[in-house]
Amino acid sequence: MVKRKIVKIDEEKCTGCGLCVTPCAEGAIEIVDGKAKVMREELCNGAGFCLSVCPTGALSIEEREAPAFDEEAVAKHVKPAAHEINCFSCGQGEEERALIPVRIKGESLWVCTRCLPKLIHG
Ligand code: SF4
Repeated sequence: MVKRKIVKIDEEKCTGCGLCVTPCAEGAIEIVDGKAKVMREELCNGAGFCLSVCPTGALSIEEREAPAFDEEAVAKHVKPAAHEINCFSCGQGEEERALIPVRIKGESLWVCTRCLPKLIHG
């Protein structure tokens, strides 16, 4: 166990909508019995990409004792899904370009660095 930053989920506020699942590139969040949960704390690096998509403010980052972040465990956990994450605009995957989570018209999507300027400037 180490003292580090990790996602905290307020179950009272969580509606189980699932919007926070996709932005977590490490696949640390799952919906269980209608609530978001960090099922394996070693998969959460505390980056907080999930925070901005939560419509109810149920997510925050706290600093506490937790298992150390484990990159190898993440690689094993997300490898099959990694090829399924693509830019919503051009369809390129994270193997080709860096992808960034965005919220558009109520949807949580990924956009690549090449398409992001179009999104910003139109
Ligand atoms: S986005 Fe917020 S409300 Fe929706 S499942 Fe995740 S924590 Fe719960």
